Amino acid sequence: MAEVQDLFKKVIAHSKEYGFVYQSSEIYDGLAGTYDYGPLGVELKNNIKTYWWKSMVQMHDNIVGLDAAIFMHPTTWKASGHVDAFNDPLVDSKGSNKRYRADVLVEEYVAKIEAKINKQVKKGIKRFGEDFDEAKFRATDGRAVQYAEKMKSIEARLGKALTDNDMGALKDLIVELEIADPVSGSKEWTDVRQFNLMFSTQLGNIAGTEGKLYLRPETAQGIFVNFLNVQKSMRQKLPFGIAQIGKAFRNEIIARQFIFRMREFEQMEMQFFVKPGTEMKWYEAWKETRMKWHLALGTPQEKLRFHDHDALAHYANAAADIQFDFPFGFKELEGIHSRTDFDLKQHEEFSGKKLQFFDPATNENYVPYVVETSIGADRMFLAILSNSFTEEEVPNAKGGVATRTVLKLHPVLAPIKCAVLPLLKNKPELVAKAKTILNQLKFDFPCQYDEKDAIGRRYRRQDAIGTPFCITIDFDTLEDDTVTIRDRDTLEQTRIKISEIASVVKEKISWRTVLGQ
Ligand code: ATP
Repeated sequence: MAEVQDLFKKVIAHSKEYGFVYQSSEIYDGLAGTYDYGPLGVELKNNIKTYWWKSMVQMHDNIVGLDAAIFMHPTTWKASGHVDAFNDPLVDSKGSNKRYRADVLVEEYVAKIEAKINKQVKKGIKRFGEDFDEAKFRATDGRAVQYAEKMKSIEARLGKALTDNDMGALKDLIVELEIADPVSGSKEWTDVRQFNLMFSTQLGNIAGTEGKLYLRPETAQGIFVNFLNVQKSMRQKLPFGIAQIGKAFRNEIIARQFIFRMREFEQMEMQFFVKPGTEMKWYEAWKETRMKWHLALGTPQEKLRFHDHDALAHYANAAADIQFDFPFGFKELEGIHSRTDFDLKQHEEFSGKKLQFFDPATNENYVPYVVETSIGADRMFLAILSNSFTEEEVPNAKGGVATRTVLKLHPVLAPIKCAVLPLLKNKPELVAKAKTILNQLKFDFPCQYDEKDAIGRRYRRQDAIGTPFCITIDFDTLEDDTVTIRDRDTLEQTRIKISEIASVVKEKISWRTVLGQ
């Protein structure tokens, strides 16, 4: 655990040191739950968004894009259920007066039981060696079975309490499990109450409830209210999807864990409109497609898993998360939800306008069902950063070993694709040649020029920001127009012609490498 927390601290420190993420308003001691993306962070985040957008919009002829406003007519949020039901259950510890999300306290308790099961499994591996059958062990080992049953029963009770909106049952669960405040150790809790997560503001000079506006807590509603505009103007037939990337705002009870839970964040959401009755088929298909999207970046399968929801939101008939093994454990990275016709029907009712599709095949009008995929760009950023952060030993120039910190980012995501380095900065002819090469390459992809310090240190700096290639210009370059190209991962250095650099780099950073999967 200490090792894991250590990794998280290192990732946060690395993010700041190399210009990926800063605390927002840091000179004023920061603002909780908000962060700023630095020069390299914005490049990495843009690349993540581009990957998502291309895979959704460019690769599907039946998915189109949208960029709806953050402010929406306030009735939108009454219709969607957010005014009445977009709440998190909050509870205060009487020991420390600290505030917690009641459901998260229970989830963390469940995670501890899961850790116990994993410990049992590890013992089993030790005992049985090569013959170990994990599935059989989990199903038959007395302790593992007991823990699993306990987990299941707690999850079911938590799910029921949340679905029934029964805050008393949630409090009973916390008391019964003897959950202690992580800060003070106290087991004395206040009653659990609901807390609405929407931020509000005022429209122009209209005072009171008349002018009350909300900052959208999800991008999805902008898609629903535009369903007919998009369907008609783009002449789409079912099934078709609308994709959107944009900011969302939630007044989270506790915004901890760096960019994992923020009060201002960015979502990448796609609503897929389907014929009623076909939604389960599409739900399964999108689960599979989204998992493949993550795996195509080289993220190991064991760091990703599905987690089916026990508590379904009021609008859903099936829901699963894709969880990622963050430095603080498996947590939701993306949600895939079968939202039924709830949202469109609600907007029909509240607006008095029809939001239906005329199906020429059957000559009927109906309200489509919706399957949604929803992922936070910031959570994806954190997943990518923590997965790629590596400290390893590599051979040094003197035949010994050195430790390097390297971001093993997939080249399509790397903020800088190629560094251009003159061997010596006090040789004008090398500097001039390097700059000529740089001025050509920068038309094709983001490059960085660096002449300061010994070449080894410059390589390390590029490793630390995940640059896939370094090009070194030396005296031979002046003679024969060749350079050394160094590969970040293999550390291999090869001699190639200046005219070949762009194609070598382009092959590795091509979107084809990830979109074709
Ligand atoms: P959680 O249970 O972690 O609060 P959620 O189930 O409320 O998340 P959704 O409403 O399904 O989340 O939102 C879809 C995605 O948006 C999430 O999978 C996550 O990646 C992202 N997201 C949600 N809330 C936040 C937040 N406060 N900060 C950063 N990303 C968020």
